[in-house]
Amino acid sequence: MENSVIVIGAGPAGLTAAAFAAARGLQVTVYDKNAVPGRKLRITGKGRCNVTNACTLVSDLMENIPGSGRFLYSAFSRFMPSDVIELFEFLGVPLKIERGNRVFPVSDNAHDIADALTKYARGCGAEIITETAVKSLVIRDGAVCGVKTADGKTREAAAVIVATGGVSYPGTGSTGDGYRFAKAAGHTVTPLRPSLVGMETEAAVWRKAQGLTLKNAAVTVYRADNRKEVYRDFGELLFTHFGVSGPVILSASAHLRDIGTQKYILRIDLKPALDDKKLDARILREIAAGPAKNPANMLRTLLPASMVPVIMELWDVPPGSQVNKLTREQRQTLVYLLKNLESPITGLRPIEEAIVTAGGVSVKEIDPKTMQSKLVRGLYFAGEVIDADAYTGGFNLQIAFSTGAAAGRAVLDS
Ligand SMILES: Cc1cc2nc3c(=O)[nH]c(=O)nc-3n(C[C@H](O)[C@H](O)[C@H](O)COP(=O)(O)OP(=O)(O)OC[C@H]3O[C@@H](n4cnc5c(N)ncnc54)[C@H](O)[C@@H]3O)c2cc1C
Repeated sequence: MENSVIVIGAGPAGLTAAAFAAARGLQVTVYDKNAVPGRKLRITGKGRCNVTNACTLVSDLMENIPGSGRFLYSAFSRFMPSDVIELFEFLGVPLKIERGNRVFPVSDNAHDIADALTKYARGCGAEIITETAVKSLVIRDGAVCGVKTADGKTREAAAVIVATGGVSYPGTGSTGDGYRFAKAAGHTVTPLRPSLVGMETEAAVWRKAQGLTLKNAAVTVYRADNRKEVYRDFGELLFTHFGVSGPVILSASAHLRDIGTQKYILRIDLKPALDDKKLDARILREIAAGPAKNPANMLRTLLPASMVPVIMELWDVPPGSQVNKLTREQRQTLVYLLKNLESPITGLRPIEEAIVTAGGVSVKEIDPKTMQSKLVRGLYFAGEVIDADAYTGGFNLQIAFSTGAAAGRAVLDS
């Protein structure tokens, strides 16, 4: 009993914590409500799992964590991306590095990562009990002494690590139970917000392009009040029934932390490879090649078909006119529209659709070296349940691994 640890949640944070604690000779039991460990891990990176980011400095990691980077300094320093890479290669999962230092398994199969981590935790001696949900923590005299499971049983332990994840993609098991446990233990849970999520946009005309994917759009987000730019990047963008999504939009969303109080505008450059002058020259070439075409037909040579009605609605030219009759001003308006398609952002999509949950158990109440609660003895937190989230690129899983390792190394170490 005095060396027994319960881990709630068999995600990347819980499995890492369990492996590290069990490797120290502690008696570790992991409970997960799902039938299979690492359910969310198995769908990460579109099924390929961007397992970490091969950056080498702690400062690089911290730059990708808005808000709680400093809290993670110690956990990162002691379990870096190089340690994650070494661990998986040691576990027989060769890895490769792609654009932006993103690390993936060579197999492009997230199951390889989840299976290896599960096997590692078991190999270190942890017992993983699936299809068993924890209902509450048992706390006595300021110390945790076990958990109650859904079957009504009390399971005793000298320490408990809460690694229940956030509230995003609840179908994977992360339904926010850890926040409830933390609150009941007296912890502060900072407001939960969606991050890495689609954006709802005001411009109704964009809906005409619903379903269209732009492989390489240039995206800028700026504040409506002072036009200060908060995000700019290239990437894949998808027009949807609610607005926009796709990798570049998800990344941008992490920068809109005050969207409830602040207004933002999204600008899309549909022709990022051409500056205004070159784009005008290109339009002139298209006009010369088909002078009798109407504007929509000419646009079809420049844009994906479903973008044409969007631009036609915004570009104030008679649909039946001939393109060789366009004025210089009308051409300039077209150049402007193609490079500055703009809409106010009316909000982010719901947290359930977000890749990560921002907010969570306040880092002020957790010891950054050990992940132990400062309020309840023997209680630890690891992973997304903590108020720490990152941009895309493998950083969120690195948070899970580093905080899991910190908790697993420190639990019952006194
Ligand atoms: C679609 C998608 C793609 C992603 N891709 C990437 C990527 O490529 N790279 C990256 O870095 N990050 C990615 N992320 C984010 C990353 O998956 C999470 O940040 C990470 O899984 C968090 O790990 P965790 O262990 O804290 O929580 P989770 O992985 O959510 O694990 C928590 C576990 O706790 C269990 N649990 C919860 N409550 C209870 C309870 N009461 N009793 C028992 N068990 C319980 C759940 O069943 C779950 O298995 C992605 C997320 C999503 C949704």
